[in-house]
Amino acid sequence: MSGIFGMASHKDCVETLFHGTDYHSHLGTQFAGLSVWSNALKSKIHDISWTQFKSKFFEEIPNLKGTMGIGVISDSHPQPLNINSKFGHFSICTNGFIENDHELADEMLASGGTFSDSVNEKINMTELVAKLVCKGETLTDGIEYMFSKISGSCSLLVLTAEGVYAARDRWGYSPLVVAERNGEWAVTTETTAFLNQGFTIKKFLSPGEIVLLNSSGMTGKNIPEKQNQICSFLWIYTGFPASSYEGINVEVVRERSGRNLAKGDDIKADVAAGIPDSGTTHAIGYAMESQTPFRRPLVKYTPGFDRSYTPPAQSTRDLIARLKLVPIRDIINGNKIVFCDDSIVRGTQLKNYTVQKVWENGAKEIHLRIACPPLMFPCKYNYSTRTRAELATRRAIKALEGQEVQDVTPYMDEEGPKFKSMVNWITKELNVTSIKFQKLSDMIDAIGLPKENLCLYCWKGECPSKKNQADGEKAGGCCAKTVAI
Ligand code: SF4
Repeated sequence: MSGIFGMASHKDCVETLFHGTDYHSHLGTQFAGLSVWSNALKSKIHDISWTQFKSKFFEEIPNLKGTMGIGVISDSHPQPLNINSKFGHFSICTNGFIENDHELADEMLASGGTFSDSVNEKINMTELVAKLVCKGETLTDGIEYMFSKISGSCSLLVLTAEGVYAARDRWGYSPLVVAERNGEWAVTTETTAFLNQGFTIKKFLSPGEIVLLNSSGMTGKNIPEKQNQICSFLWIYTGFPASSYEGINVEVVRERSGRNLAKGDDIKADVAAGIPDSGTTHAIGYAMESQTPFRRPLVKYTPGFDRSYTPPAQSTRDLIARLKLVPIRDIINGNKIVFCDDSIVRGTQLKNYTVQKVWENGAKEIHLRIACPPLMFPCKYNYSTRTRAELATRRAIKALEGQEVQDVTPYMDEEGPKFKSMVNWITKELNVTSIKFQKLSDMIDAIGLPKENLCLYCWKGECPSKKNQADGEKAGGCCAKTVAI
């Protein structure tokens, strides 16, 4: 997972590029980079695993000058990369996850290709994408060729002498949005990056759409795809509250999810609370709907800590999870508390570092209300750190069945007995009084897009559209790999 920001102006744009990129800091904790164009390319990449983007780049900004630039906050590998090619020099950054990266790299190596960069012996995804793009007749042709070869997802920015090329993933899993400010053009993953910098949104790019931004404006370079399957998780968890995707604001969707969780809930709690940060707005919605007082039994010590999900090492995630949420005994002691959260992925941090703290501080009851329906399948389009066996649902099913089972369909029926027994198992495992998940149909309603336009793979294990599935299989695209349930 990464966040990308690009800018093309008639004057120096580095300050806006710096802040625009910084507004993606919640999307990655490993590497960050900036590239600018001023007669030639100049780039900087830093490891930000134990520091913030701002502190690493602030002192370098005066030395970076340019009228065009791209920036990235990355959770996986160093980027942007500068490439010398038949298209001239360019710099490239990407956001996505390529499932068949080794297959594609092996093909290239077999035909005499080389790779210069690796992180922990993994292929640098951005380098692989750059090499695929360079196989095209033109940059646009090369980007479309890359789309046709990968299984997974990839949005990207390419900084050239001509301007900034922006291409949204072929299936639209990740967003890209273009905006304008007095003749300056910018493109972003998170629209939050525009709100305090005076930009007006001009276009939510369509899936597979490629545009060129320069001082002449925005030029369309291809005919985009029609079918969208944007990641639903963006609204529920990963997106920043002020951002909008496809014109739909994240905060508002979270409020609606919280209201859905409260409707028909039979718990009469003393306190409605969120697990900070992304559970907070779900809790506000829950409190508004149920008239339960919204309070903060847990507060997040923000300075210095980043998200606990994204660092790749489990020990680092655990350490951050243990330290960052601080309990307030005066609010917890003796109370029945409904805690809203975005999702239960593994559940281990929730159990060990959140629930335990709340019990230790005297809670009478702990009820979890979860905005994401139970996650049944690990993401294969953007988040590479989850495996199927890690998911709380899969551990529950294995425990209930006494073995791993291939067909989990009975556990996906929200009204069925197997679903209930799975939720009961997770409730006991997490040591809470009760758990309820938002229904999949309610989550789709809360987002407000037709279900055909959303990726629901986490819950259903299949592409939203049969047509996409067939196209993907033909073209080696997102669903080229069969879905083993
Ligand atoms: S599988 Fe889940 S996390 Fe991945 S893109 Fe689809 S909805 Fe988002």
